[in-house]
Amino acid sequence: MGSGIVENAAALIGPRNVRTGPSACEKYNHDSTGEYRGECLAVALPSTAEEVAALLALANRTSTPVVPFGGNTGVSGGTAVGPGGDALVLSLERMDRIRSVSAETRTAVAEAGVVLETLQDAAAREGLSFPLNLGARGSCTIGGNLSTNAGGSNVLRHGNVRSLCLGIEVATPQGEIMDLMTNLHKDNSGYALKDLYIGSEGTLGIITAAILKLFPMPKAHATALVGTGSLSSALRLLNRLQSASGGSVEAFEYMPDGYMRNLGIRYPDLKSPLGKRHPVCLLIETAATSEADAAADGEGVVAVERQLQEFLSDALESGEAEDAVVAANERQRRDIWKIRDVAFEVSNMRHPLVHNDIALPLDKVEPFVLRMESALPAVAPGAESITVGHLGDGNLHYNVWLDRCADPTDDRLRDAVMDAVEDAAHELGGTFSAEHGIGASKLGTMARRKDPAALSAMRAIKQALDPNGIMNPGKVVPMPTS
Ligand code: FAD
Repeated sequence: MGSGIVENAAALIGPRNVRTGPSACEKYNHDSTGEYRGECLAVALPSTAEEVAALLALANRTSTPVVPFGGNTGVSGGTAVGPGGDALVLSLERMDRIRSVSAETRTAVAEAGVVLETLQDAAAREGLSFPLNLGARGSCTIGGNLSTNAGGSNVLRHGNVRSLCLGIEVATPQGEIMDLMTNLHKDNSGYALKDLYIGSEGTLGIITAAILKLFPMPKAHATALVGTGSLSSALRLLNRLQSASGGSVEAFEYMPDGYMRNLGIRYPDLKSPLGKRHPVCLLIETAATSEADAAADGEGVVAVERQLQEFLSDALESGEAEDAVVAANERQRRDIWKIRDVAFEVSNMRHPLVHNDIALPLDKVEPFVLRMESALPAVAPGAESITVGHLGDGNLHYNVWLDRCADPTDDRLRDAVMDAVEDAAHELGGTFSAEHGIGASKLGTMARRKDPAALSAMRAIKQALDPNGIMNPGKVVPMPTS
C-alpha cells in the first residue's frame, strides 16, 4: 500500500467525503452479523461514477485493498475489512439518485446507493413494481443487491435480481467506466459481462448504476398462513396451486415448527393466526395483475382471494393442509408477513449461530431436513436448528445455534456442523450457496466444495480483471495463498 492514499482520495472527492478515525469509521468496521470486525484505513464516499473510477485507479496504483459498501445488510461477511487497517472502504451511499422511472419501457435507472425500498416506492408511484422482496428492503441497496445477486421471497415468480436487471455501469480497478447500460431485452453482443459482475460481490469492480425491469403492480394479493404435516404435503400443495393459479404464486415460504416456537419466545406479541402449531408452517401469496382477478364479488372478496380460499378449503378436506388462514385485509396480510420478515432477528437472538444458505432440488428438501434431524445431535450434541426457507426455490436457511453445546465456541464444532450440512446438500444434488453469496464466510467452503475446473476459471477471471487483487480481497474466490 502506498502512503498518502487518504490525502490523495480527499483531493479527488473533497476532504469532507473521506472519513478517518475510529468513531467516523465505526459503522463501516463490521458486517451486519457482527461476526466480522476490523479496522479500515478510511471510508471514501464518492458521488459519481467518475469519482468511483478515480478512487479505484488511485487504489490500484498504490495496491490498496478496496471494500465496496452498500447497505451493509449482507450476511456472508462481504463487507468485512480485516484487521490490517489497510483497506479503503468505498461506500456508495451518496450515489442515491433514481435517474428515471419509465412507465413506457417499464424500466428504472438507479444509482448503486439507492435503497431498495426507495426504488420500490418510486416505481409504485407509476403503478409499477420492482419485485425483489427482502426483509432488509429498508436498508439494502441496489448495488448490494446486484453484487450479491439477491433472491428473496419472489424468486419463484420473478427470478433472482440478475433476471430483473437489463444493464449496469461498472467502475473497474483500472479506473475505467464500463458502459453496459442497455435497456435492451435482447443483446448477444459478446460475453455476458453484466451477468459476470452481478453476483461477483465487489471482487471484480464496482457497480455504479443499473437499468432495472419493472412490472405491473399487483392489483390484489391473496396471502395465507397454512399448516401442513410434512414438507412433502407442502410440495404437493405448491405444485397444485401453481397449476390452479396459472403460475401466479409469488411466495411460498417455509417456517418449521422450531422457528414458530422461537418466534413466540423472541416476539411474544406476534401471534400466529393458526390455532395450534404444525410441523410445517407456510406463508403462501398469490397476486393478480388483471382487473378481473382483482374484482370483488358480492361479499367483497376479490377473485384471487376467493380462488386461494377455495383451493385451501379443498386442501383441508383432502388432508394435505392441517389448517389455513387467509388474510382478509391489508393489515392482516402485513401481520402474516411480519412473522416471516423477523427471521433475521429470531435467528440472531442466540449465538454462536452457524449460517447456512443452501439450495436443493425441490423434492430433496424433505430428505435433507430428515437427514439433518438425525445427523445434528450426533455431530453437535445440544445444537439446535433455526431454519426458515424460500421453499418454492428449494432454498433453506438452515442455521444452527451452538450456545447449548458443551463448548459453543469450539471451532471444530462449527466446522463439523458446516461439514454435515454441506455433505448432505452435496449428496442430494444441492449447493452450499443459494442467495447470500460467498463473502468471507463461505470462502473455505468454496475451496473445499466448488468444482476445481470452475475455481480455476474464476481465478483466471479475477486475475484478468483485477490483476493487483485490490477488489474486496479475501472474498468469493479462494486464491492459492488464501
Ligand atoms: P452490502 O451488505 O453492503 O454488500 C454486500 C456485498 O456486495 C459485499 O461484498 C460488498 O462489498 C458488495 N457491494 C455492495 N455494493 C456494491 C457495489 N455497488 N458494487 C460492487 N460491490 C458491491 N438476501 C437475499 O438474497 N434474500 C433474502 O431474503 C434476504 N433477506 C434478508 C433479511 C434481512 C433482515 C437481512 C439483514 C439480510 C437479508 N438478506 C437477504 C441479505 C442482504 O440483504 C442481501 O445480500 C443484500 O443484497 C445486500 O445488499 P447491501 O446493499 O446491504 O449490500
